[in-house]
Amino acid sequence: MKKFKTESQKLLDLMINSIYTNKEIFLRELISNASDAVDKLHFKSLTDKSIDEKFEIFIKSDKKARTLTVSDNGIGMNKDELDKNLGTIAHSDSMNFKDKDEIDIIGQFGVGFYSVFMVADKVEVTSKAYGEKSAYVWKSDGVKGYTVDEGTRKSRGTDVLLHLKEGEEYDKFLEEYTLTDLIKRFSNYVRYPIKMEVTKSRKKDDSDEYEDYTEIDTVNSMVPIWKRKKSEVKKDEYAEFYKSNFHDFADPLMHFDIHAEGTLNYDALIYIPSVAPFDLYSKEYKKGLQLYTSNVLIMDKCEDLVPDYFNFLKGVVDSPDLTLNISRETLQQNSELAAIARRIEKRVNKELTKMCESKREDYETFFKNFGRVIKFGIYSTYGAKKDDLADLLLFYSARNKKMVTLKEFVKDKPKYIYYAAGTDTNQLAKMPAVTTLQNKDIDVLLLTEDIDEFCIQAMMNYDDIEFKNVASGDLDIDSEEDKKKTEKLNKDNEKLFKKMKKVIGVDVKITNRVTDAPACISAEGPVSFEMERVMAETPGANDVTATRVLELNPKHKVFKVLKEADDKKLKLYSQLLYDQACLVEGLPISDPVEYAKNVSKLMV
Ligand code: ADP
Ligand code: MG
Repeated sequence: MKKFKTESQKLLDLMINSIYTNKEIFLRELISNASDAVDKLHFKSLTDKSIDEKFEIFIKSDKKARTLTVSDNGIGMNKDELDKNLGTIAHSDSMNFKDKDEIDIIGQFGVGFYSVFMVADKVEVTSKAYGEKSAYVWKSDGVKGYTVDEGTRKSRGTDVLLHLKEGEEYDKFLEEYTLTDLIKRFSNYVRYPIKMEVTKSRKKDDSDEYEDYTEIDTVNSMVPIWKRKKSEVKKDEYAEFYKSNFHDFADPLMHFDIHAEGTLNYDALIYIPSVAPFDLYSKEYKKGLQLYTSNVLIMDKCEDLVPDYFNFLKGVVDSPDLTLNISRETLQQNSELAAIARRIEKRVNKELTKMCESKREDYETFFKNFGRVIKFGIYSTYGAKKDDLADLLLFYSARNKKMVTLKEFVKDKPKYIYYAAGTDTNQLAKMPAVTTLQNKDIDVLLLTEDIDEFCIQAMMNYDDIEFKNVASGDLDIDSEEDKKKTEKLNKDNEKLFKKMKKVIGVDVKITNRVTDAPACISAEGPVSFEMERVMAETPGANDVTATRVLELNPKHKVFKVLKEADDKKLKLYSQLLYDQACLVEGLPISDPVEYAKNVSKLMV
């Protein structure tokens, strides 16, 4: 008797003592293993013409013996494989069970073969591998360990025989009704027939009476869901397929299917999840769609089918025109695949636009989960994808107090798309420049995600309207007359501003950005304060600094005071004003102690 590996032992303990309510998943796991085994042989049969058998999976229940058998005529296992494959848990790295509470994880991952021990106290796997003369039998009660001995099986394939545990809750797994129901629910799209003896009723000859008879039937529908017409599939079925195939708890947000015939032949079924997977933004996350050719899975996550900015898509692409033994490298150069990918991308774009227009609530859910991915797509392609993606963006409008698209924002053809960037919309709405614009009935986008401003800078404009940060450069809201006035004020006070610059080290000028405060600080040039902050917080990024300018409000009393101050006072006031403006903007001041001293000086 051999012992199970330690990780397997832990999982087995949990399985045997499981109070897990979805014990029935064991059948799904066994059928999926059988289907995998047949897949492997099917693959071989494409080159080895001696394999001509009809592939199938067979389920047999024996009420008297309390046994259930799942058989397949797939690739089988030899002695070593029985030992290796069934003696060690395949998923051990994804499962780090600590206590019994974590048993819920079973439903999330599917733990494979060992799930049989939730319903069986003894299991026998008899298998004859492809190309082998003898059969072997693996036996285990799941507790002590397992044995592998010579066994008997006439033809190639595997029988998994379960001795079901005693008790009512296990009896049902011997019932025809339960079994057919489970097969239909979990394994309907398995590409091989799942056969079973079923009871039917017929009229007796020459009589009105009915009699029962039994017949071998194929229980599953076999036709993959992505090959069926939309009108023939219920919405529930799409959701069930999504959840079981892509391991999500939540129903998808939406799905669509494509059936293309002509120059390109393929069927595709694409889903947009409703919740972002927890690892979406980690390096471990792998994008991609399942790629099939003529019902055989050739790749689980084909990256080339989805662009990075749609990396959240799940789904299946099935094309008979691809060859089976295609390698990763040749796939990348495959022009058909590239064409399919382009079509899918276009369609996703269309579907999202439609959702944004007609189902805004759904779209906001989508955007909350995946908006970042799209923004990053615009940024990382340096705006090259802007035409495709800009209309998918949502930003918060200060005027409407809700998320709007750029199209909605520019409806009245504003001169600029003004925006303020920070961490919180409430705070941003209170920024002096934002209120100044709002008082002039000009709307402002309030951006709160780190990536926002980078995305906007990559776009530069939308619908030929330039983006403008309210805290940088010229706001350009003045009339010609006002501009002249400002120019004159700047000129008249040139000397004063020069003196002040000597103290604080940054340019000083007249502002139109604030109406109530005496001064504010702005950034000149391409780098904004928000970008400076984000870069400083990004590990490995180069530190960039925004070029600061102190702007003075000529209508404020303080301005007059500055003009009349002697050199000593001017030095003090300049420093104070500058520090103050930095604080209001949320920027650190260079010397807090000095600032405190200066404030005290005012008092004594
Ligand atoms: P997984 O299916 O995820 O690999 P399982 O625990 O379900 O994990 O199965 C472990 C391994 O046992 C499989 O990878 C496969 O190699 C082997 N196996 C299980 N059932 C069969 C079968 N019916 N025919 C051939 N091999 C099988
Ligand atoms: Mg499995």
